[in-house]
Amino acid sequence: MLFEKVFVEKQVKENLYTLKILEALKNPETILIDKIENIFEKVKKPYLQKRTNLNLFIGRKEGQLIKEAPNAYGFSSEFPHYYFIHSYNCIYECQYCYLQGYFNSPDIVLFVNHEEIQEEMKRLCEVHANTKVWFHAGEFSDSFALANITQEVPSYFELFKNLPNAFLEFRTKSVNIKQIENLEPLENVVISFSLSPQEQTKKYDLQTPTFDSRIKAVSNLAKKGFKIGLHFDPIIFEENFDKQYEEMISKIAENVPESQIVYISLGVVRFTKDVYFEVQKNYPESEIHASEFIKSFDNKTRYNKPQRLWMLNKIKQLCIRHNLSEEKIYFCMEE
Ligand code: SF4
Repeated sequence: MLFEKVFVEKQVKENLYTLKILEALKNPETILIDKIENIFEKVKKPYLQKRTNLNLFIGRKEGQLIKEAPNAYGFSSEFPHYYFIHSYNCIYECQYCYLQGYFNSPDIVLFVNHEEIQEEMKRLCEVHANTKVWFHAGEFSDSFALANITQEVPSYFELFKNLPNAFLEFRTKSVNIKQIENLEPLENVVISFSLSPQEQTKKYDLQTPTFDSRIKAVSNLAKKGFKIGLHFDPIIFEENFDKQYEEMISKIAENVPESQIVYISLGVVRFTKDVYFEVQKNYPESEIHASEFIKSFDNKTRYNKPQRLWMLNKIKQLCIRHNLSEEKIYFCMEE
């Protein structure tokens, strides 16, 4: 089994999604608990233990279910952007992942109170009745990596059929799209993929699907009519990074109909202080450290501004050269 131990909060033991998850995991032995926070993160569990020992927690997200996203987070920044939290942590192991400095434990938490999250979405749509509003999934996890187990995605499609002014983004590196392919595509639901060139995917995105399989998944969904977002993020400097991106972008242009692409977000690698500390500790040999970083405008560790803008503009020009529309391109989390 993927998980060593499975903890379930008593309050969700009969929840529809809890039952679906347990069934998908072939009904493992579970440990009933009062609250996830009584156990999860109570003792520091080193990040790399995710390779050999991963526990699962199933529970109810309490407190704020949906949060306002920071500036320059998404496309169409004139509209409000929110992210919702339905999971913590991830089965993949990207060397730059911000989760390694965020939680005290890499164990997976799945929240199953999707009805409550969806009620809150409806309420926010009423608050913003006169404008478009964006919701993003996957801030603290990968949206689809466990979608075949969690099985909540169809219910979000169902909801957004009736919320025409609202937009939903699922963000993933996964190719776990079987369940999604069978859904009816919606104009206001965007499936977005984080992509890096093949060489970088191999080096930095450990345990994730290969570059080719990701492109195939993007292509399949786009050809079936799904709206696609692309995140070239994090862009990591290497001597030949422009050549690597040229190859990647030409592959995308060949395989993904441009009309289905809603946006392309470009973001250069960046870390909070805590995450950078963890990256240095967990991956001391990584080529990520080959370039010099500075502390930048928002206290995050980044390349210096001229270098970032030079890299971002270079990739933007490559996109334009391959007929990806300039209006669809934006820089993520830049000044
Ligand atoms: S896919 Fe995203 S959430 Fe998962 S390890 Fe990679 S960066 Fe982190």
